[in-house]
Amino acid sequence: MPLASRLPAPPETMAVLEETYSGVLRRDPGEAEFHQAVHEVLECLGPVLAARPGLATAKLVERVIEPERQIMFRVPWEDDNGEIHVNRGFRVEYNGALGPYKGGLRFHPTVNLGIVKFLGFEQIFKNALTGLGIGGGKGGSDFDPHGRSDAEVMRFCQSFMTELQRHVGEHTDVPAGDIGVGAREIGYLFGQYRRVTNRWEAGMLTGKGMLWGGSAVRTEATGYGNVMFTAEMLRRRGEDLDGQQIVVSGSGNVAIYTIEKAQQLGANVITVSDSGGYVVDEKGIDLDLLKQVKEVDRGRVSDYADLRGASARFVAGGRVWDVPADIALPSATQNELDAEAAAVLVRNGVKAVSEGANMPTTPDAVHILQDAGVAFGPGKAANAGGVAVSALEMQQNASRASWPFSQVEEELSAIMTSIHDTCYETAERYGASGDYVVGANIAGFERVADAMLAQGLI
Ligand code: NDP
Repeated sequence: MPLASRLPAPPETMAVLEETYSGVLRRDPGEAEFHQAVHEVLECLGPVLAARPGLATAKLVERVIEPERQIMFRVPWEDDNGEIHVNRGFRVEYNGALGPYKGGLRFHPTVNLGIVKFLGFEQIFKNALTGLGIGGGKGGSDFDPHGRSDAEVMRFCQSFMTELQRHVGEHTDVPAGDIGVGAREIGYLFGQYRRVTNRWEAGMLTGKGMLWGGSAVRTEATGYGNVMFTAEMLRRRGEDLDGQQIVVSGSGNVAIYTIEKAQQLGANVITVSDSGGYVVDEKGIDLDLLKQVKEVDRGRVSDYADLRGASARFVAGGRVWDVPADIALPSATQNELDAEAAAVLVRNGVKAVSEGANMPTTPDAVHILQDAGVAFGPGKAANAGGVAVSALEMQQNASRASWPFSQVEEELSAIMTSIHDTCYETAERYGASGDYVVGANIAGFERVADAMLAQGLI
C-alpha cells in the first residue's frame, strides 16, 4: 500500500516517511496488522516533520516504530485429561518514554508477534493521549480459553505468569486484560505473581477485583469511555445520543459496557455479535440477560436470542453493519468493518462510527466513512478510557486508596472530553478540521516524541 499523505506535505518529507515504511516492510515481513497500524500513523506525520525538521534528523519516527524490547516465551501446561500443550507467550515493551509500559494481554488463537506489535504500537499513542504518564506495551498468547475449564485456564495462567513475572512490575511494565483475558484470568495471573515473587505489589496488574486492589469503573471503562467520546463528537455537531439507534459488534467486556452507557444516555442499542454471528433485538438489547449469558454462563449470543423470545433473532455468520442505524460502535476485533460494510452504513445514513475495539475499521472503510462526512472516532482516542482508568487504578494502588465509583466515573468523563478536545484541536491546527484520525495520531506522536527528545538518544 503506497503511503499517501492525509495532509499537504513536501515531497522530500514524504520520501523520508516512504523510506521508513519500506524499512518496516523489509525488516518485519508477514506482520500485516503491524504494517497497517504503522501506515496509518505515517500517513499523518508529513506536516509534523516538515514543521519540525529536528524530529526527522533525530530519527524520531524510526525510533518510535522500533520496540524497546520484545519477549517471546514457551508456555507449557496440562489439560484436564493429562494432555500436555505448548503455547507461545509474548510481551512487547514498546515505549517507556512517558511511564512504565502499559497495555493488555490478549489470549486468542490468532495472536502472533505481528498482532502484539500492532496493538503495542497503537497503545503508545493511546496512552500518550490520556496525559497520564504511561508508556506503551502489549502482550498475550495464542492460547484459546474458549471451552476450557476454570482449572485449565488457571494452569495456563500460572505457567504464563511464571515466565512473565521476570519482566513486569509496578515500575516496569503493567499488563491488564484484553480479548480472552477478563476478571478470572487477571485473578489467576495476579495470584501467581504474588506467589512467585512473595510481594504484594498491587500496581503490577490492572483490572483486579475490587477486594484486592481493583478500581471502580475499570470493568466498565473502555465501553463507557467510547460512548462518552461519541457523545462529544455528536455534541460538536449539535446532537446527542438520546433516541439514536445504535449497532454494536462483539459481546465481550467492551461491547457490554458500551451498551450500558449508551442505554443510560437514552440510545437504543439493537445488536450484539460474536464469531458465530449476530443478534438483532428489535426491542433493544436486554442488558441483564446479556450479562447473564456472557459474563456468568460464558455462553454465545445465539443463547441470548433463544432466551430473549420473539423480539430477537440470531443471524448465523452475518454482520451487524447490515442493520440500519444512526451510530455504529465496533467493539469486537481488528478489521471487522471493511469497505463494503462502510458503504452499507453510509447508504443507511450512519452519522457516527467510533472504535471500541482496536483497529476494527479497515483503512478503505475509514476513508469511505470520512469522505461521506461521518464522524469517525479512531480507537487510539475513543477506546482509551480503559487504559485511563487502569492508570487511575495504579494511582489508587500507590496511595493504598480506593475511590468511589462516582469519582472515578467523573474522572473518566473528564479524560475522554480532554482526549476528544486534544484530537479536535490538533486536527484544526493542522488544517484538518473534524478529522480525529489526524488529530489522534499527531497529538499522540508529538507527546511521545518530545519526551524522547528530552531524554537523549534512547
Ligand atoms: P472480550 O474477549 O471480552 O470480547 C471479545 C468479543 O469480540 C467477543 O464477543 C468475541 O466473540 C468477539 N471476537 C473476538 N475475536 C473475534 C473474531 N476474530 N471474529 C469475530 N468476533 C471476535 O474482549 P474485549 O471486549 O476486552 O475486547 C474487544 C476489543 O476491544 C479488542 O479489539 C480489544 O483489543 C479492544 N480493547 C479492549 C479494552 C479492554 O479494556 N478490554 C481496552 C481497549 C481496547 P467470540 O467469543 O466468538 O470470540
